[in-house]
Amino acid sequence: MKVMDIFETMDYGPAPEAPTPALEWLQKQQAFGLFINNRWVKPNSGQYLESTNPATGKSLVQVASANQADVDAAVEAAQAAFEIWSKTPGHIRARYLYALARHIQKHSRLLAVLEALDNGKSIRETRDIDIPLVARHFYYHAGWAQLMTSELPDYRPLGVVGQIIPWNFPLLMLAWKIAPAIAMGNTVVLKPARYTPLTALKFAEIVQEVGLPAGVINILTGEASQVGEALVRHPGIKKIAFTGSTEVGRNIRRTTAGSGKKLSLELGGKSPFIVFDDADLDSVVEGVVDAIWFNQGQVCCAGSRLLVQEDIAECLLAKLRVRMERLRVGDSLDKAVDMGAIVSPAQLKEIQRLVQQGLEEGAQMWQPSWACPTEGYFFPPTLFTNVTPASTIAQVEIFGPVLVAMTFRTPAEAVALANNTRYGLAASIWSENINLALDVAPKLKAGSVWINCTNLFDASSGFGGYRESGYGREGGKEGLYEYVQPAWKAEPQATKAKRAAQAQAGKSAKQNGDGGVTELEADAQEGAVEGQAAVNGYVPHLPAIDRTPKLFIKGKQTRPDSGYSRPIYEPAGRLIGEVGEGNRKDIRNAVEAAHAASSWAAGTAHNRAQILYYIAENLAVREDEFARRIAQQVGCSYADALSEVQVSLSRLFSYAAWTDKYEGSVHRPPLRGVVLALPEPRGVMGLACPDENPLLGFVSLVAPAIAMGNTVIVIPSPKAPLSATDFYQVLETSDVPAGVVNIVTGDREALSKVLAEHDDVDAMWYFGSPEGSRQVELASTGNMKYTWVNHGRARDWLDVKQGEGEEFLREATQVKNIWVPYGE
Ligand code: NDP
Repeated sequence: MKVMDIFETMDYGPAPEAPTPALEWLQKQQAFGLFINNRWVKPNSGQYLESTNPATGKSLVQVASANQADVDAAVEAAQAAFEIWSKTPGHIRARYLYALARHIQKHSRLLAVLEALDNGKSIRETRDIDIPLVARHFYYHAGWAQLMTSELPDYRPLGVVGQIIPWNFPLLMLAWKIAPAIAMGNTVVLKPARYTPLTALKFAEIVQEVGLPAGVINILTGEASQVGEALVRHPGIKKIAFTGSTEVGRNIRRTTAGSGKKLSLELGGKSPFIVFDDADLDSVVEGVVDAIWFNQGQVCCAGSRLLVQEDIAECLLAKLRVRMERLRVGDSLDKAVDMGAIVSPAQLKEIQRLVQQGLEEGAQMWQPSWACPTEGYFFPPTLFTNVTPASTIAQVEIFGPVLVAMTFRTPAEAVALANNTRYGLAASIWSENINLALDVAPKLKAGSVWINCTNLFDASSGFGGYRESGYGREGGKEGLYEYVQPAWKAEPQATKAKRAAQAQAGKSAKQNGDGGVTELEADAQEGAVEGQAAVNGYVPHLPAIDRTPKLFIKGKQTRPDSGYSRPIYEPAGRLIGEVGEGNRKDIRNAVEAAHAASSWAAGTAHNRAQILYYIAENLAVREDEFARRIAQQVGCSYADALSEVQVSLSRLFSYAAWTDKYEGSVHRPPLRGVVLALPEPRGVMGLACPDENPLLGFVSLVAPAIAMGNTVIVIPSPKAPLSATDFYQVLETSDVPAGVVNIVTGDREALSKVLAEHDDVDAMWYFGSPEGSRQVELASTGNMKYTWVNHGRARDWLDVKQGEGEEFLREATQVKNIWVPYGE
């Protein structure tokens, strides 16, 4: 027998990890309580749930089942702790985060074994991937706690954050949620998944060891219907951070709509794994193993759709089958297995159901010849070919070790196939041609794109989805903004109102003091004299040429479909104009026009900047006309109106400046390579303008949105829409391509609802009433579009801190992280 033959025939023996320390730790607890205020407390319900080992189906331990009263107690503890923690200097918070990271490393083996026992995933993965990444997350965010005052000087923490995590990466998801939240000065109440609470409970013990102030971190085990829903509804919670299924994410959006709670959702996916014909196929095979058989395919960003260039498909699939035949499935504590157990019988059943459906729909299935263990919940690696892009298994997230393969011929076809999904979490591209890969990456609708690699994660690089994969990022500097708010927003409203009253008092005193009249008042007096003359004798009177602003769609002034106009009055009640009454059909046309203008994003940032400057130039020529119009609509002085025009000009300049400077960043995770964090436009955006500052409110929304490459449908303030309709002419003379800015006047609430419900609108900003905000958030759940609403809270648009800047640019973009490893 040759050595080579021995390599071919030699089988692996078992390499079991000892479970004893973990089992002893579990036995010591008997039954776990809830972790509130750094203490273990009994659940109010007196009920306990069982946690089992999916590799054996056997019970491991009992954990408490919390209810509403426990949630109330935990939120109360977190609220009290927030008072202290949010004022604790960043350096001290950094020390605690550092200590948490250290302690995680000290207990790393116990945590890895517990995770493998509780979840069924292999010890190799928990030991080498999950737990090291958990520690890295706390280290990385210790740094941000230290730097918060210098790097985010104008931001403050939110308050108590409710965090709900899934079972597929239990401790890692906990770290992704807790580390940034507490680094930024928030306190948390976290609910682990029903199936996998154990590492979170060990983490709670670490929190005690480290001596974190009581109430900063509270952990409640229990059922979704008790704990999860209570957290989502709780009025004391300022933000919900959720990872899990799109359906539950949608419910959470519905429940929190209008509540003012900040929300980040990391949901499902059906990520493409694209292989071009010049790829290194042996690397590709290992990549596929990582993409879909890592964690038994129970990964939100699993590369579950293999898209292969047609001429290499047969060769690649043959190699893949050989590799699949050699994969090993078994007990999670055996270091020689590639795949562990599926988390629960329910999840196993769901995988089996979808696989059966794939067969019924005519796809061809291939599985290795060996059988899975019969004890526990296992499913073999599975490959489907002959799959049509619209079939169930090509569209629905299976969340198991099931790969569907399809072919393409050209890069354009690969992009179309890759984007043919309602999700947009991740994608991976395999090609030896970096030019091709970097050309394709920006065209993919996905939050992370891996080039010649897959499933790479690091605390420095944000992770999160596009489309129905959710919104918000976890990791990187971009992830911090999920846990902070602008300082002015954190200020109690009463203080703000007092300041505004003082400012107003100062203004009146000035007006009275110098006895002067405003220019508008002077105009009005002049008009009165003219009017008198007309009564006393004949004065030839030239009526103004009637002007009826229409809608502005696809670069053209268009009559509203309804055929109705709405009257616009000045504050004193005099009619000053009429604007078109836009309806659902007009919105539909505007959305179509905005989509047709999508090449706006593909143009250079330099070009967009030039156009913004040009808009400012053309507005400046009409400064006086716009000032008069503002004064007429809101009844302010000419001087105030003029200053609004001037701030609008400055704002246009600011965004023209930002256009080619808000470029993203490069992350350096610990690997040979770089991650390009690119802010990309959200796409087609709906913008509902505020009533304050008719011109400045409009400009403050439109300018950042289009600067970043979005195309927009704007609903001007219904009270004062004439500044926006006058703006058509500025747009028409400024080289703005048709369809980039569309303006539909009418009822803001009704039109916003249509936009928020529209499946082809990617994001919606709304600045109006609390009820309107709620309605937009509720209506957005159709395609899970990103929303940014003001919950009825007005901004001071004249204040640069509130009215412009990076907050707007961030809201107008989503970050795509493109992983580019290098080296031979
Ligand atoms: P869920 O979305 O149901 O669960 C995720 C978390 O949310 C769990 O902690 C769960 O609690 C909690 N939860 C469930 N319902 C509610 C609710 N109404 N309000 C508040 N919290 C709630 O995922 P499942 O575990 O049921 O898995 C179902 C499918 O979801 C999978 O097959 C997969 O497709 C997808 N999934 C996606 C994940 C991702 O990372 N994107 C992760 C996990 C699942 P509890 O555990 O107690 O039910």
